[in-house]
Amino acid sequence: MAKQIINLHRWAPAIDWAVLGLMFASGLLHPAMGLYYQSFAVIFLSLVAIVLSGGFLLFKYSEYRGQRIQGERKKTPPVAHEIFETVRAMFIGACLAAWPVALYRGGYPTGYAFTLAEMELSWWMVVLQMYAGIIVIDAYTYWKHRLLHTKFFYPFHKHHHSFKDPTPFAGFAVGPVEAVLTFWPVVVICLPEAKHFVPLYLTAITSFVLLNLYLHCGVTFTWAEKLLSKIGLNSSGWHNIHHSDVVVNFGEVSFIWDKLCKTSRQDVKARA
Ligand SMILES: [Zn+2]
Repeated sequence: MAKQIINLHRWAPAIDWAVLGLMFASGLLHPAMGLYYQSFAVIFLSLVAIVLSGGFLLFKYSEYRGQRIQGERKKTPPVAHEIFETVRAMFIGACLAAWPVALYRGGYPTGYAFTLAEMELSWWMVVLQMYAGIIVIDAYTYWKHRLLHTKFFYPFHKHHHSFKDPTPFAGFAVGPVEAVLTFWPVVVICLPEAKHFVPLYLTAITSFVLLNLYLHCGVTFTWAEKLLSKIGLNSSGWHNIHHSDVVVNFGEVSFIWDKLCKTSRQDVKARA
């Protein structure tokens, strides 16, 4: 078993590249193949532009404002490396997102709903559905993260932990296997039964991107920490601890599962 783990450590980078190739090749199976690759190109470039420009703005701002969590930086952060991994993860995200988008553009039925009439639900039920979705995604991302910290899967996650004192560019700097595990739910919208109200869905995704950039910025802003903890969401002060101490604070959206499963630093310290 130990040998298998050692081998997986060795083979993980090759498996990551193979997964990236397979994801890109999946478009060959799409019923609207031309539209798939067109959609992929637009989504990929848009994601890279949005995430990197957001990361750049927050990086510059956080270098001068906010309270540094790990004290003054001892060395220059590996920004180029973080950007490379982020671009690779966005490639995977675009491969997955292009599936429902190209189906929609090709006139196939999908789960996209642009009006409440298409949702066939009242506005408050749509809002309730979105909150239920956030609760499910929070649980999923917590347990996915715990899974990535098992001996078997850690080789696919350890690279993200090379960013011990991250910058916002590390927010999505994860390998292809982890990116598939994170972004696959977007494919669910291929099912016409899985209705998603696009205005709220896009708002939730944009909020997740902004939150993730903040979680990795290396500083805290008092107002943001207070606001996020009040609404039960993860914060920079909370998530940064996971980068300096990898066995605690696994929550990716909220800190609730860490509290429930006693995996917060406070709980782990109390047990030590
Ligand atoms: Zn981790």
